[in-house]
Amino acid sequence: MKKILNYIDGTLLEPSEGNYLENKNPATGKVYSLIPDSSAIDVELATKAAQTAYPFWSGLPKEERSNWLLKIAELIDKKSDELALAESIDQGKPLSLAKRVDIPRAAANFRFYATAILHFSSETNDMGSNGFNYTIKSPIGVAGCISPWNLPLYLFTWKIAPALAAGNTVVAKPSEITPMTAYLLSEICIEAGLPKGVLNIVHGLGSKVGNDIVSHKNIPVISFTGGTTTGEHISRIAAPMFKKLSLELGGKNPNIIFADCDFELAVKTSVLASFSNQGEICLCGSRIFIEKSIYEKFKNAFIEKTKNLVVGNPLDEKTNLGAIASEAHFNKIMSYIKLAKEEGGTILCGGDEVKLDGENSEGKFILPTVIEGLEYKCRTNQEEIFGPVVTLTPFETEEEVIMMANSTQYGLAGTVFTQNLTKAHKIALQLHSGIVWINCWLVRDLRTPFGGVKNSGVGREGGFEALNFFTEPKNICVHF
Ligand code: NDP
Repeated sequence: MKKILNYIDGTLLEPSEGNYLENKNPATGKVYSLIPDSSAIDVELATKAAQTAYPFWSGLPKEERSNWLLKIAELIDKKSDELALAESIDQGKPLSLAKRVDIPRAAANFRFYATAILHFSSETNDMGSNGFNYTIKSPIGVAGCISPWNLPLYLFTWKIAPALAAGNTVVAKPSEITPMTAYLLSEICIEAGLPKGVLNIVHGLGSKVGNDIVSHKNIPVISFTGGTTTGEHISRIAAPMFKKLSLELGGKNPNIIFADCDFELAVKTSVLASFSNQGEICLCGSRIFIEKSIYEKFKNAFIEKTKNLVVGNPLDEKTNLGAIASEAHFNKIMSYIKLAKEEGGTILCGGDEVKLDGENSEGKFILPTVIEGLEYKCRTNQEEIFGPVVTLTPFETEEEVIMMANSTQYGLAGTVFTQNLTKAHKIALQLHSGIVWINCWLVRDLRTPFGGVKNSGVGREGGFEALNFFTEPKNICVHF
């Protein structure tokens, strides 16, 4: 059975205590690899290696760091088929999606920050005849990067690339549910000849390895993407240590459909926003609010399209929704479908597990599920489900829909469909979220700030925001 290894100080290493966890393919339910069940000893080794590499790496001209990142991006592109297959098997997502989105984006993350760092500059503030100030933006030291299982390599590299470009060295942990592409990335770094200790990847449980990274006294900056409860736990450890912290957390995003929308576009995009990656994207629009005059028309068209989605073997070209990433997550989603019924919701389509034949008979699959008839305040409409489950709610006025859209603890993203430009901008301004898409969903420009408000997180990733996060500004004042 394939054994995943830690990547520490440029070398692939067994976990120091020799313990392994089982890694399942969620589409077959079978264990297909072993993951290091690493301990504090491994985190210590990785941190020491990163500390040792730091003076060299941070002292390199940025052009040289940029070249290393470009080399890694090229190798990701070269191995994109192997990486996409690994991602699909490990996560359960359709292979076609991994090929189209996850792996190209991982390469783009490295390429983007390899070039962004070359344009990253700082300010001078003059004080006239009294002198001037200049600001230096220096790397911080060893950065801890912790990422989730839904978009494994995509989100892992979204943190690592800016941290490295800015001159930090890194100790990173992927989710133990989806470790494979992070392991393949360590092989890529070795092939690229990345200097030892610059990037270290420690595999294992969040409660052990993740916790040890967050609480390590020599890791002063933590970038985390994951659930809001875990984010709160991390804040409690990191805040008293005065660590710099970036938190990208959960979402319960509203998708608002006005009667004057481009109807076909709104239906087509809403289906994508609801069920892409089995609904396991923090940006999915899980609460669909529809203006009353087109509620029935939209509902019927949306259900018709949803029923056409194919739930199946992730490796099959025709599959739209693959397997749910883990059994625990499957159980969580099914418990929310049950809750929705208890709260008085009507299941318009889906609502059940899908049992596939053959090698997928032990996999965990759920039909895309559409629910109506729920109060906007009920738990189903307030808590993050993070699966292929959406609710439909009618509204009559702009005030009403803004009130319902903003009613959750979350504030990550929102989507608005209308042909009325003034209305679109007005609604976008009033949504309490870090991101709003008008007449589209998940259109990304890597230069833009990415993140949420309220319990969806603290700080922003993307563009120069991430480079600012991974550096400390120092102002130097020159007085004449
Ligand atoms: P978790 O919070 O459970 O885990 C995220 C990562 O943190 C994993 O690597 C996990 O390790 C690790 N971890 C778990 N416990 C700790 C701990 N005590 N200390 C340090 N690290 C820990 O989230 P999920 O993996 O379940 O991901 C789903 C969540 O991520 C959803 O809420 C989703 O909304 C959010 N998300 C947010 C995004 C955003 O940009 N805002 C993007 C994508 C997802 P392990 O898995 O090994 O236990």
